Amino acid sequence: MPPESTTPLSPDELREKYRLEREKRLRPEGNAQYVEPGTVLDDFDADPYVEPGFTRDPVVDEVDVVVIGAGFGGMLAAANLRKAGIDSFRMIDKAGDFGGTWYWNRYPGAACDVESHVYLPMLEETGYMPTEKYVKAPEIFAYCQLLGRHFDLYPTALFQTDVEGLDWDDATSRWTVTTDRADRITSRFVIIAGGVLHKAKLPGIPGIDTFAGHAFHTARWDYAYTGGSPTEPLAGLADKRVGIIGTGATAVQAVPHLARSAKELFVFQRTPAPVGVRGNQPTDPNWFASLPPGWQEERIRNFVAVMAGEEPDVDMVDDGWTRMLYVDTRRKPTSAEDAAELERIDFENMETIRRRVDEVVDDPETAERLKPWYGKLCKRLCFHDEYLQVFNQPNVHLVDTEGMGVERITPDGVVVGGVEYPVDCLVYASGFEVTSDYTHRLGFDPKGRAGVSLSEAWVEGPATLHGVLTRGFPNMLMISTVQGGQNINFLFTITATARHVAWVIDECLRTGVTEVEPTADAQDAWWNTILAGIEQTWRYQLKCTPGYLNNEGGGDMRSARSAAYMGSALAYADELTSWRETGDLAGLETQRAE
Ligand code: NDP
Repeated sequence: MPPESTTPLSPDELREKYRLEREKRLRPEGNAQYVEPGTVLDDFDADPYVEPGFTRDPVVDEVDVVVIGAGFGGMLAAANLRKAGIDSFRMIDKAGDFGGTWYWNRYPGAACDVESHVYLPMLEETGYMPTEKYVKAPEIFAYCQLLGRHFDLYPTALFQTDVEGLDWDDATSRWTVTTDRADRITSRFVIIAGGVLHKAKLPGIPGIDTFAGHAFHTARWDYAYTGGSPTEPLAGLADKRVGIIGTGATAVQAVPHLARSAKELFVFQRTPAPVGVRGNQPTDPNWFASLPPGWQEERIRNFVAVMAGEEPDVDMVDDGWTRMLYVDTRRKPTSAEDAAELERIDFENMETIRRRVDEVVDDPETAERLKPWYGKLCKRLCFHDEYLQVFNQPNVHLVDTEGMGVERITPDGVVVGGVEYPVDCLVYASGFEVTSDYTHRLGFDPKGRAGVSLSEAWVEGPATLHGVLTRGFPNMLMISTVQGGQNINFLFTITATARHVAWVIDECLRTGVTEVEPTADAQDAWWNTILAGIEQTWRYQLKCTPGYLNNEGGGDMRSARSAAYMGSALAYADELTSWRETGDLAGLETQRAE
């Protein structure tokens, strides 16, 4: 069936179209439609970026702080510890180096989708000038390594090491961290910076484990098979038929590179991505040199204010993000007229995205299939100047699944609508767990007071103060989105939280506090703050096509408790700052040395 015509629709028609497109995609199994990669790809979790066979002696140590996770969250927390003069800490990460997301995501085309000048932290401190407005992943990974050297973090780091256990001891007020390399490290405090988009997921497509060709997930790109590198053509694909499943923000970046190198590329689409203009450009060194002290904080706050729909007078970053989100159409309308206006703006923003598809894609039928029919905040907006264009190439085939997803995988290929598409290689751009249980994503289950595990303590859902501390788990500080901050520029909230956790630890160490945890009342009050912000976001999200942002279109109170603070990210960061400035550890119970 050819898709519908491109005639602009009335608001009523658009509302109905969005509703129908959402309903097509709703699945009763929700998140259970996904499976863990390890159940399908034997060596999925193997690190393709290190030499195999690394061994070392177990480490037995006692420190003030263990930092679990050496991505931006862990690194910024450690940098703040250093700044506070706390040097007794160890960092642990399963990866072979610093970088977290940017260590694992080395797929071709990977790049920062937020302006580097507001994304990369501490540019004024390191004196680093990003080479482009949106730098590529290898540059971000190198910047992580630079931060590692700048703050002398390498000597503290245990890489290629998986945390297996985290146990609190009431008698000594210490945590013990145990790892898969038989390390045993005791510490007064633990910072868990376990990452947000790090646990990959695969679609549970029937037959997925029968595929006889080569397959991998984008977060473990197999250059040994594809040839090339993040910056070089994938020469190994020149005679290959390649399929990619998924058309989210990752696929949008990877597809142009696959299209350039593969003999044939089949893009299996369930929901089209919204793809606006990127307009990347090199950083002008004169402009960069002219920036006054304090420029980065000012620019970051301005960007975050725009992302929060605060409509500041100046839009410093002035890009696709800020133009699309200058008005937060999720905000609570002040009147019926205001509600209609917010909806009109959202429709118009998405109409711009849909018009661009017609402008770029030659074949009208293909163009029609590439149009997203949902609100602008339903999926992560993408900005790319080569993605839509590849669908004009004769070796690229869009296989639209009409919202139903891939039907079946066979030993030879992928079946959609009863037609088998034979492929030699299958790339899963199927995303990451976001709304699953926190401890599941962490891969270990901390045991707090009386040996109670975090999964037991949170059986009804998480309870925290600021998303950072939780009762029953003294001296354990988390950097995550669970009841914590969130923003399009995730580095903003990570930076704010990393500063906060280091401050709490420093304050405790300076004032002789041996144990710190939130009161039940403080956790309840924080939950009420979270809840107050959820309602409006849900009103919007529950009309959205399914995805990780709306828990695959469903949700209950338990999953709501894992939500992030939905107000402005500036408000979240400012809340942490003013809490610290009061200086009385409000809402925390403390024990001191006798
Ligand atoms: P997503 O979860 O956004 O996308 C997964 C894709 O797989 C979707 O298109 C989904 O379709 C598709 N899919 C799932 N199941 C099936 C199925 N059975 N058949 C066909 N298709 C299926 O993951 P991404 O890795 O693309 O992005 C995750 C997040 O990572 C982004 O939202 C963003 O926050 C971040 N990111 C950031 C970047 C940056 O530059 N900073 C770059 C890339 C990603 P459907 O939409 O229908 O569910």
